[in-house]
Order: sequence, then C-alpha cells, then structure tokens
Amino acid sequence: MPMWFCDIEGCQKPAVRHFGECILCDRHLCAVHLQPAFHRCPQWEDEHAYDPAARDAEARELAELFGKINVSALEARASSLRHGVPCSVPPLRYDRSTMSATMGGMNYHVEVAFDDGVRWMARIRRSNATSPPPALRDYILQSEVATLRFLERTSVPSPCVFDFALEGADNAVGVGYILMEKLPGKSLRWALATQAQKNKVMSQLADAFIELSRYPFDRLGSLDRPGDGHVGPFARESLTDFAGSEMRPLGPFSSYGQYHESSLRLVLDLILRGEMYAPQAVDAYLIHRFLVDLIPLIAAEPPHTEREQRHYLKHADDKGDHILVDEDFHVTGIIDWEWAHTAPAAVAFNSPIGLLPVANFYDGANELGADEAVFARLLEEKGRADLAACVWNGRVQHRFAFCCGYDLADWRGFVGLFRGLRDVVGVDAGLDWDDWKAVALRRYEEDAGLRALLSRHEAAR
Ligand SMILES: [Zn+2]
Ligand SMILES: [Zn+2]
Repeated sequence: MPMWFCDIEGCQKPAVRHFGECILCDRHLCAVHLQPAFHRCPQWEDEHAYDPAARDAEARELAELFGKINVSALEARASSLRHGVPCSVPPLRYDRSTMSATMGGMNYHVEVAFDDGVRWMARIRRSNATSPPPALRDYILQSEVATLRFLERTSVPSPCVFDFALEGADNAVGVGYILMEKLPGKSLRWALATQAQKNKVMSQLADAFIELSRYPFDRLGSLDRPGDGHVGPFARESLTDFAGSEMRPLGPFSSYGQYHESSLRLVLDLILRGEMYAPQAVDAYLIHRFLVDLIPLIAAEPPHTEREQRHYLKHADDKGDHILVDEDFHVTGIIDWEWAHTAPAAVAFNSPIGLLPVANFYDGANELGADEAVFARLLEEKGRADLAACVWNGRVQHRFAFCCGYDLADWRGFVGLFRGLRDVVGVDAGLDWDDWKAVALRRYEEDAGLRALLSRHEAAR
C-alpha cells in the first residue's frame, strides 16, 4: 500500500509523492491523473493564476483547521499547567498580513497570553495535500518534543516544552499540538545582517555545535521518546514507507552507510512503484542508482575504536530562519526542530545550509563560501579543530545530501548540484548531463529496476 492512493474516483493507483500533491484542489494524484489532460489546476510557474488560487486554498485549509481547534480546552489546559493563572488565545482568523509571523510550511502558531504577562505558543500541525498521513504527523510531533526535551538538558538555546498532545481521539483540544515557551527575538535574516552581526551569530552557533558534540548517540535516527534520549526511526516523510496500513519509518541505523543504502533503496523502490518522480522516472532512477554506488566514498567509517557513540544531533532545516536573534544579534533561540535526527560528526558539524554561497553552490563550484571559512576558523579559535575539519571537508556531504531526493522540477539547479557532486568525488567528473546519462544507461543496463522502467516506457509509447 502506498502512502496515499489517487483521489480520482475509481482509480486504484498509488499517488505520486510531492509531484502528485496538489494543495489547490487538495488531492493526491497518480502518475496518470496528475497530467494536464486530467488535472487542470494552475502550476506554480504560472504565478498569476497560481498565487490567488493558492491563497484561496490556504484560507480554506485554515478555516477547517480553526474549526477543529477547541480554544477553551486549550486555554483550560494551559491555565491548569500554571496552577490556574488565567490565559487567553486571540480569536483565530485568517489574516494574510500576519500569516508569515504565525505560520510555517508545516505548522500554525497560536499565542497563549497569560494574565501575568507570560506568553506561550501552541505549535499546531497544518493539514493539506502536502502533509504526511496522521500517524506520521503524530510521530514527527512526538519526535520534535523528544528533541526539545533533550535540548533542555543542554546549553543550546531552545524553547521549553510544557505539554503536547497527538491527534488521537482522547485529545480535547481537537488537534495535535506542542505547548511551548514563546522565545523573544525574530527570525534571522542573513542577507540583511552586517559582517560583524554575522560573525557574532556564527560564534554563538559554533558554541551550540561544541555543546552538541558533548552528547554522542550510538545510533542514527530521530529522538522519539520524550524525556529519555532514545533514538528511534527517522521522523520524516521522505524516509517512511507504508505496507498495508502499517507505517514503516526507516531506521534507526548503526552506520551512515547503512542509512544511505536504506534511504536510497526506498527512493528506487518508490520510483518503480510509481510513487516518486513519475514525470522523470528514468532520469531519477539513474541518478539514485548512481548515488548508491557513491556511498562508500561519502560514508567512510571512522576507525573501529571510535565506532561506539559517534552520532550527534543535527537540525534538519538550518537555512538561517531557524535562528532567533534580538536587536544586538544575541541568539535567543534555535527553533523548528521537526525532522531533527542524529548524524555522524562529518554531517552534524558541517556548515549549516544558511552559510552556503548559494549561487556558486548551485552552479557546481565546490569552494567553500566566505561565511563557511569564518565559521570554520571560529571553531578552530575555540579549540575545536576537529569540528572545523567537518566544515573544511564538508562540501561532499552537502552535495550528496542535496542530490538525494532532490526536486527535479528545479532541473537547472539539479544539473549544477549533480555536476558538483561528481567533480568533488572524482567520479564521472566533467561530463554534462546528456553525456552522463548515456554513460549511466550503459553502466546500469543489466539493472533489473532500470530494465523494468525502460520497458514500461516503451510500452507506454
Ligand atoms: Zn489540483
Ligand atoms: Zn489516478
């Protein structure tokens, strides 16, 4: 059974992940029904048609979400956690001017204001065609809580969790939520910061890395039990398979090679089952098949004696806006920990995505950016040349991670990323896409999956 079936009546096919998720008509579509002959919603490239339709869809989605939230139950719960200090939640209204402050891609934030001035925040999962199924939403939420509870034991600035509830029926609030501290500060906007401000933030980020390096874990996966530091399977949609009605998140793993092997095999399986990359299945298959062959080059294991306890917590979306800063660029919090997982030092302490020199990176250049060099030197100055080495040698890890499961609709971006990967590992370096594809078709001509895909394509002609 796939993650979703196609929503077209009478169609029994699996819906395509990502490409087949339409927020406008709120449907999951299979490889056939997502084609323009059947699916007529505007595409995102056509912004004049798409943007107003997306706003309408968002308004409908939030109206439905607000309808599910039992505000008085939420207020009563928050108040009881503070021994009866009264609190209130402002009326839930869809207002586009304030949306960016209250909403992320996966969550909606409701402020809880206590009469004594204390402010909390309820982080509530959104639900639309791009959201994971409810069981997986619950697992991701529970993992985020486990991660935040772990962080409370460290000096990494992050919000305290006071309560959480899953979407299950015994939840009086009606929706899954995390009740947490509302931290002061605003999301960092890297492009608007001066060099001195950036350096100040990077120094504090280096301190957070050094602190996280003091808490090794023995396995690769996501924290999944609030309070006890247990590492379970990865809490992420792209790393979850479904069999029957059973959700099968991947992991936990004991080595990074095993993790990549397993996640890439899932991508290849999903391509063959028509659940991923339906419009570009052969290209996607060749790319991911090639990535499997590169695993030994990017997942070198440390010497045997260091094998135990060698994974560290990694934020999964470190673009920069996960950092809250005050007016003096003092970091008040690192937020948005959903999807967080443990990773080897080479990945956990590599430079955050927000520090990448974006244009050069997508162009295929493998030199580190100026911010990354500053960050590495800060780690060295703080006496952690070992962590700095993860940054200096980190480009190969960025390249590989970006190429796994990349959205091929951004084809130009992908071509640069992929060329940069082949250059940095020294395999098929310098080939442009068409030449590489010809080489790969020959190289994998005996691969059973590729043969099945090619004959399916022939038959469809
Ligand atoms: Zn649609
Ligand atoms: Zn269909």
